[in-house]
Amino acid sequence: MSIKLDGKKLSLEIQERLKKDVLKGIEQGCRAPSLAVIRIGDDPASGVYVNNKERACEKIGIMSVVYHLNKDISNKEVGNLIDKLNSNYEIDGILLQLPLPPQLDSQQLISRINPSKDVDGLHETNAGRLIQGKIGLSSCTPAGIINLLRSQNIQIESKNVVVIGRSLLVGKPISIMMLNLNGTVTITHSKTKDLKGICLDADILIVAAGKPNFIDSSYVKNDAVIIDVGIHRLKNEKSGGTKLCGDVILEDVIPKVSAYTPVPGGVGPMTVTMLLVNTIFSWQKCFGMKVSIEDLLP
Ligand code: NAD
Repeated sequence: MSIKLDGKKLSLEIQERLKKDVLKGIEQGCRAPSLAVIRIGDDPASGVYVNNKERACEKIGIMSVVYHLNKDISNKEVGNLIDKLNSNYEIDGILLQLPLPPQLDSQQLISRINPSKDVDGLHETNAGRLIQGKIGLSSCTPAGIINLLRSQNIQIESKNVVVIGRSLLVGKPISIMMLNLNGTVTITHSKTKDLKGICLDADILIVAAGKPNFIDSSYVKNDAVIIDVGIHRLKNEKSGGTKLCGDVILEDVIPKVSAYTPVPGGVGPMTVTMLLVNTIFSWQKCFGMKVSIEDLLP
């Protein structure tokens, strides 16, 4: 029997905990934690993600403010807004919803965010801290994966970990986190030769290729743990509706593995929850409180 790594359930548990931490801080006289979300343009998927983040913030008592900007806005104007939010004492976290329209330089704008408010964990200072193994703000999706593995006491030390993908958002940070936890890590990408041969050696296989139904059971060793980061909305030709799927053909892989993440309900909800965790971390630091969620940071 394989274990389902249930991101929805774990998220609810963590969120209950965060709600109590927020109340405790407010009782001690601090203002409520707050998150500024910058959304640019009208990409519907970004709209859904931003709404989910707003709802999650509201549930645990984080104030969220969404700055919905025109798709034609200039880099300079977005930069000015970031500067304003950086110096606003009432704001603990700043999130720039990606992807951005083509005229904007996402890397440059992320670099402009004050690293201590970089709740997406993508600033080069926070990426550098992660490489040095220091606790702090780190990329939400990989941090969520670490918590899913911890929740079922899945050992990382000395395991062969294979990561498919090398993005700044997922592939690179999850590889560093696994290495920091003493996994033996292999990073693969679009130029990798013999992907299947490498994957077959994985005790833990993390798939973040961004390709729907890319990995089937022939890539997976018996009793491996498989983490599916991909998320795709595919049209169902029969019903005319849409269906969510990941990078992994789950029904094919589940009988072979010891644990897996479902799509939806696996990595996705944990990404949102780790954004909340990061915002609480920044807030507690800002008020000089004892950080209560260190065990949730990778
Ligand atoms: P990306 O497109 O930036 O990176 C994809 C990576 O996959 C690249 O590094 C590329 O080299 C690699 N790749 C592509 N084809 C490959 C192949 N044939 N063999 C080996 N490697 C290959 O994507 P990303 O931002 O890392 O996201 C990956 C997926 O995860 C996407 O589907 C994205 O929507 C999803 N995602 C989900 C969440 C979540 O919360 N569930 C969060 C972030 C990203």
